[in-house]
Amino acid sequence: MGVELPQAGAPDHPVRASADELPVSETFLSIQGEGKLTGVSSWFIRVSGCNLRCVWCDTPYASWDPEGGRVSIATLVAQATNSGAAHVVLTGGEPMIFPQLVPLSHALGDAGLHVTIETAGTNDLPGVHADLMSLSPKLANSTPTGDPRDPSGAWAARHEARRLDFSVLNALVARFPDRQLKFVVSDPKDLAEIGRVLERVEGLSPCDVMLMPEGVRTPNPSRVRWIADACVERGWRYCHRLHIELFGDTRGT
Ligand code: SF4
Repeated sequence: MGVELPQAGAPDHPVRASADELPVSETFLSIQGEGKLTGVSSWFIRVSGCNLRCVWCDTPYASWDPEGGRVSIATLVAQATNSGAAHVVLTGGEPMIFPQLVPLSHALGDAGLHVTIETAGTNDLPGVHADLMSLSPKLANSTPTGDPRDPSGAWAARHEARRLDFSVLNALVARFPDRQLKFVVSDPKDLAEIGRVLERVEGLSPCDVMLMPEGVRTPNPSRVRWIADACVERGWRYCHRLHIELFGDTRGT
């Protein structure tokens, strides 16, 4: 029997879809370029569709203009186990808006794979499995105000209303002892907003918090010095984007 599944292109208009498949824009073997598992060989499953529209989104083919077809959970598990990687990353888009992530995540875990879920932390899926919950709460710098891809401003309004949900963030932090919070930063003014966010999320230690420079090119060290300084002052972590440095802004990496 079919279930309500957020439509890839317009998550506000659910469509009927099978309970055992997911919209997937790409799967690939690469190294994890961000976060505490940086450098680890991993199989990536990029789900297509997102409930947000970040202005600087580096995977618009899984958010603004979602691509790809529907792939069965059985096929996704077989591909992951055959990849040779011991780690699998469920990313997007926003994987946590798809209820099919619950059986997929358990099947991958049952197959002996380490599972990371990469999410903005705006939607919870009770029962989902993850060895590492990688949360990326979105700051005001992400809102697509005046973006030509959103001429009516409807997505900017939706994005602003949805981008921070503290009940979801607190639930995920409480449930997943191995977690990280990655903030994409573009200006020192972002630090004040991060401070306000962290005041409302309980149970974190400073080393759970990561600052990642916005952009799809390796940043000039002089332009990100303020980020490193902020991390040193607060005990947070600087989050490099190793895949960008190694492969550039290319798909499948
Ligand atoms: S939450 Fe992620 S996938 Fe969605 S628009 Fe923002 S950066 Fe892109």
